Amino acid sequence: MSSARFGATRGCYTRCSRKSQKAREIPVQRDAPTDLAELSLADLEAWIVARGLPRFRARQIFAWVWKRGATSYDEMSDLGRHLRATLAAELPFTTPAIARQDLSEDGTRKLVLAFADRRQIECVYIPDTPSQTFCVSTQVGCAMGCAFCLTGKMGLVRHLTAGEIAAQVRVLARVTGLLDSAFNIVLMGMGEPLHNYDATMKALALLNDPHGLALPPKRVTLSTVGLVPMLDKLAAEPLMPNLAVSLHATTQEQRMAIVPPSGKYGLEAIIDACRRFPLAKRSRITFEYVMLDGVNDTVADARRLVRLLDGIKAKVNLIPLNAAPGIPFDRPSDSRVDAFARVLAERGMTVSVRRSRGRDIRAACGQLIVEGGRAKSAAQALAAAL
Ligand code: SAH
Ligand code: SF4
Repeated sequence: MSSARFGATRGCYTRCSRKSQKAREIPVQRDAPTDLAELSLADLEAWIVARGLPRFRARQIFAWVWKRGATSYDEMSDLGRHLRATLAAELPFTTPAIARQDLSEDGTRKLVLAFADRRQIECVYIPDTPSQTFCVSTQVGCAMGCAFCLTGKMGLVRHLTAGEIAAQVRVLARVTGLLDSAFNIVLMGMGEPLHNYDATMKALALLNDPHGLALPPKRVTLSTVGLVPMLDKLAAEPLMPNLAVSLHATTQEQRMAIVPPSGKYGLEAIIDACRRFPLAKRSRITFEYVMLDGVNDTVADARRLVRLLDGIKAKVNLIPLNAAPGIPFDRPSDSRVDAFARVLAERGMTVSVRRSRGRDIRAACGQLIVEGGRAKSAAQALAAAL
């Protein structure tokens, strides 16, 4: 087993709803014309060449969007007025608007972004964790319905497109002045990334392009509730991100009670998928464990967790619940969290306790929920009451 580390990490995250468990297909915005922000460099080259324009223009434009964070054709000063006008007329270029921006006393910055259809999501900048980290959403709401998750209360409103997922990064990088710096991405905002698989993978490809932000997959962590077939698919991806699995329980019965998708993908099946997940040298799967007072936080739970993860290259991230009205659980005391962590550490596991960032602006795990917007959902009513 790995050497023990019992420290503190910070992060931000989200959760899901219970009503849309059955495969209710929720499409992305329909009938939207092709948008520059959705195009890979290869697609853009094809578009440019089809119009008789020189191919190199595609790289120039792509770099303006993904390297320099431009939000309109007007900013692309080396393109020439005529070309910019042609582009503006023929290829829409959309960037989500910043509907709201909150700055936490700890430096965490939460943006509410509004898309063309007025749907909103949240994304978060977490400084110095020790790297700069952007927490990004993959859906408006979430269908998974985890019992402790505020985002889950929204249900799934719609999937985000690849361009909308990646746009959060270019907006955050521009707002924070980090376009030319190294940063990490955690797919731990609103939504379940593996439930919006293709768009999520396409977003990672857009962000990875060397002519844009050139974000390497090792700087990306995908957090999932554990949709087993998609986990297996992820295992074969060329741009495979780091994996974080939201476990939260050590028995099937216990997990069923708080993470509804467990009915379809049981604890054992998830652990098996983790065992066969290919890991690069020195890399490990992070297991997230939201601690709920009196529910999953006993020393017996901790011992079971050690047994469950035996033989997996794992690290455990304990997340004491971020409590909120409407969430029927309490946050355990620090001493209970410490006792749990100690059991893991004493048995040689790497364990950290996430000290959530940005709690004063509701940017912490399980606190991402959008107020306002068009739909008057139960979630919004709930948020308004907070
Ligand atoms: N859907 C994915 C990613 C978004 S949720 C997933 O579930 O992994 C990101 C993390 O925030 C998850 O580990 C989730 O369990 C955690 N989380 C959700 N609600 C929380 C809450 N109220 N307090 C603390 N963590 C929470
Ligand atoms: Fe969805 Fe993750 Fe929230 Fe569960 S914890 S409801 S999977 S966003």
